[in-house]
Amino acid sequence: MAGFFKSLLNKITNRAEIDWDDLEADLISSDLGIRMSTSIIDELRDLGREVSADDVVETTRRQIARRLPENFPPPAPRADGKPFVILVVGVNGTGKTTSSAKLGLWLHQRGHTVILAAADTFRAAAVEQLQRWGERLHLPVVKGNPNADPSSVCFHAHQKAIADRTQFLICDTAGRIHTRHNLMEELGKIRRTLAKQDETAPHLTLLVVDATTGSNALNQAKEFHKASPLDGLIVTKLDGSGKGGIAVTIHDQLGIPPRFLGTGEEPAAFSIFDKESFVKEIL
Ligand code: GDP
Repeated sequence: MAGFFKSLLNKITNRAEIDWDDLEADLISSDLGIRMSTSIIDELRDLGREVSADDVVETTRRQIARRLPENFPPPAPRADGKPFVILVVGVNGTGKTTSSAKLGLWLHQRGHTVILAAADTFRAAAVEQLQRWGERLHLPVVKGNPNADPSSVCFHAHQKAIADRTQFLICDTAGRIHTRHNLMEELGKIRRTLAKQDETAPHLTLLVVDATTGSNALNQAKEFHKASPLDGLIVTKLDGSGKGGIAVTIHDQLGIPPRFLGTGEEPAAFSIFDKESFVKEIL
């Protein structure tokens, strides 16, 4: 993700004068959005002197930092011993199943017990994929019959998590956007089903967005947020051409904070969002 800004800096460093249009276009193409890019350019112009590469980095960093949330504490097991339920939602292909497994491992490595629910029943391969992850990472996976209703899979997994006193339940849910109504129905049903056994569940709803998809990710966040309140993002594929700027834009425009980051296909390529290192990484 740092690559993009590195090339931007090279461009500026090697040039006598800044091409403002070029700089603005570069900022926009890094997924920072028009509003933020314009604001960065305005601030630089307001310096009223020759602008250096350091000025660009500092101003951009400051503007990014201003638009990102402070760090959240990691999800903690509940004091009453009931499962902390995490609903993972998102469009297929974003890395939802992989991220559910990675999050499971991340919690497990912190000494917590975890159950995964394979509730993305519309994509047959997703259930098998999560099962394989479960075997590989030694995490239990609850699945339903083929074409089972996602909410029934979540219900049974929740029942098992409560009975076993498992600390975390992660539900990898369906990720279709047919229409907003459809999505709302589907996610609403899952939420109501989880609330049947614990009216406080789900405790955290995370949307998985693929950083390489730019403004598509912003649109997905808008749609899902309308259909079901989101507590945060898992931003994936930051190891690829994803620039991370989209996470800043989504928080700036919708107030949905990045909570976890995916940086590769391997289970360990996953971390909790840390503002300082995120800003450092981005440029
Ligand atoms: P889903 O359809 O949203 O459940 O997506 P999957 O979990 O099946 O992931 C889709 C593809 O993206 C798979 O090939 C994953 O290995 C890959 N993937 C997921 N997260 C990351 C990531 O952080 N970095 C990279 N490079 N690939 C990822």
